[in-house]
Amino acid sequence: MSLEGKTALVTGSTSGIGLGIALSLAQAGARVILNGFGDASAALAEVGAFGGQVGHHPADVSDPAQIAEMVEYAEREFGGVDILVNNAGIQHVAAVETFPVERWDSILAINLSAVFHGIRLALPGMRERGWGRIINIASVHGQVGSTGKAAYVAAKHGVIGLTKVVGLETALSQVTCNAICPGWVLTPLVQKQIDDRVSAGADPQQARQALLAEKQPSQEFVTPGQLGELVLFLCSEAGSQVRGAAWNIDGGWLAQ
Ligand code: NAD
Repeated sequence: MSLEGKTALVTGSTSGIGLGIALSLAQAGARVILNGFGDASAALAEVGAFGGQVGHHPADVSDPAQIAEMVEYAEREFGGVDILVNNAGIQHVAAVETFPVERWDSILAINLSAVFHGIRLALPGMRERGWGRIINIASVHGQVGSTGKAAYVAAKHGVIGLTKVVGLETALSQVTCNAICPGWVLTPLVQKQIDDRVSAGADPQQARQALLAEKQPSQEFVTPGQLGELVLFLCSEAGSQVRGAAWNIDGGWLAQ
């Protein structure tokens, strides 16, 4: 499929899943706007290698004003956002009664409120141009809970609810809105949880396998490239009647 002439904005795409999705979109011919913290030069070079226009905006998506600046940048430099992938996300693991309040607030701001702000700011342009794709990277934790993840699970359940509403509100248009629910993907976000087990005395290889064995029946990680391919399907004509869905890609996690 070709996404030539379309512009994709992928939040949190300087590493991990977002970068994998950005690479798939660029390979399919889309212009790509990266976002995320840290030095973006390596990600820019990797995504730019496909030959299309690529940019980076450093918005902190916990701040609605910065999301607005990023969408304005997309309109000014790229002609607007046709494909919005709300991917930026953070994690913190602690029991609910000791969960740091400031962590709760930042997880809700980045993992949930930023999705709302991105959608409300990008959707008018999509409607005006008559086509759009909104893809929210939720999680299996948008559908089931796990101990220690109160804020993350609450935010991801919220993302799936928001996805359903936007899926309905855009149902009569050529704009679709869906959520993707990955199981374990080996990214810095998950590596930190493996490192915590290693700090508590586990062997690194065993810590990794134990993490998979507890939840993911395939005992294999989902890859950012596989998520990128699913995003391309949702952007395709074949995906145009997938609306308001929460699509699992989780090695069987949610089948249990
Ligand atoms: P990651 O830590 O590798 O990448 C997160 C990205 O978000 C980075 O580019 C980071 O710079 C950016 N980011 C963080 N805070 C930001 C902010 N305030 N403003 C802008 N950018 C910010 O994480 P990942 O594992 O690639 O996770 C990406 C998404 O996938 C998240 O929404 C996460 O919840 C979801 N997810 C991950 C897994 C997994 O197993 N890794 C599973 C299910 C869902």
